[in-house]
Amino acid sequence: MKFKIQELTDYSMKFVITDTTPSFVNTMRRVLVAEVPKMAIEDVEFHLGPIRDNAGKEYQSVSPLFDEIIAHRLGLIPIPSDLKLFNSRETCKCKGEGCPNCTIMYNLNKKGPCTVYSGDLEPLGDSKFSIKEDLIPLVKLDKDQALLIYATAQLGNGKMHVKWQPTSGVGYKYYPQIEIDNKLFKNTDDLMDKCVEICPKNILEIKAKKLVTRDNVEDCIMCNSCIEVCAAHKKFISDKSAELPLTIKGDDTKFIFTFETDTSMTAKEAFAYTLKFLEGKFNNFREQVSKLK
Ligand SMILES: [Zn+2]
Repeated sequence: MKFKIQELTDYSMKFVITDTTPSFVNTMRRVLVAEVPKMAIEDVEFHLGPIRDNAGKEYQSVSPLFDEIIAHRLGLIPIPSDLKLFNSRETCKCKGEGCPNCTIMYNLNKKGPCTVYSGDLEPLGDSKFSIKEDLIPLVKLDKDQALLIYATAQLGNGKMHVKWQPTSGVGYKYYPQIEIDNKLFKNTDDLMDKCVEICPKNILEIKAKKLVTRDNVEDCIMCNSCIEVCAAHKKFISDKSAELPLTIKGDDTKFIFTFETDTSMTAKEAFAYTLKFLEGKFNNFREQVSKLK
C-alpha cells in the first residue's frame, strides 16, 4: 500500500492511495469521521440576574435567543484540541470530576449592543486554547442586554455527538481510468470535437488528430458524458465494431482521498491519529485471532 500526498494545508489534505481495497479506504473514512477525538463544550453555566459593568451601569442577563440555543451553538465551536495534552474524562485520574488534564474552561462576558462571536470565548488559563475560528457569530445583543457565561470543554468523538467530529468533507473516489481507442473514430474530428466540448472538467483534447487525455485525469467525475455522446452519434464510429471509442472505469485498487478539519486540529494530526488507531485495532484483532488456536 502506498500513500502519495498531493495537497496538504494546515486544515485540509488530499492524497492518492494505491495497492489497497475499497473496504480499507472506507475504514479510514469511518475512523476520520467517528473516532478521532476533539475537545468540545459540554457544560454551559449562564449567569442569572443583573450584570454591572465597571462604571456601575446595569444590564439584564438576557439575549434574543433561548439559553439552550446559545449552549448548542457554543458546543459546535471548534476548540483547539492537542490530543497529547488531554485524557477523556472517563479515563482521567480525576475520575470524571474535571481537572486540567481533561477539561478546558472558558469565560464569555459581553455587553450589548454588539454581536457575540466565537472569539469572545476566553480560556481561563493558557491563551493557546483561544478559539482560532474567531468570527463565528453566536448571538446579537441589544442595548441593556448582557451575557456572562462559564463553559467547560471536554474530549469526545463523532460517535457520541457531531460536535466532537473534527473532520468534514471526508470522502474518496475511485481513481479514473480513461481508455481511448482512436481507431474506432470514423471521419475523425466531428465526434472528437463533441467529446472535448461535453467534458465538464476539460480532460480531453485533440492532438495530432487523436483524442487524448490531458494531465488532469484525476478531475474526472465519471459522468460518462463523453461516452453518451459517442453512443448517440454512432455514425461517426467505425462500422465494424459495436464498441465505443471511449471507456471509463474506476480503479478499485487506487483511490483519491480528501478531507478537511474544523481548525480544532491540523489535518496532519487527525490523519496521524487515524493511522495509529487502525494499527491498534488490527493488532488487537491479530491477538484475538491467535488466541483461538
Ligand atoms: Zn481529569
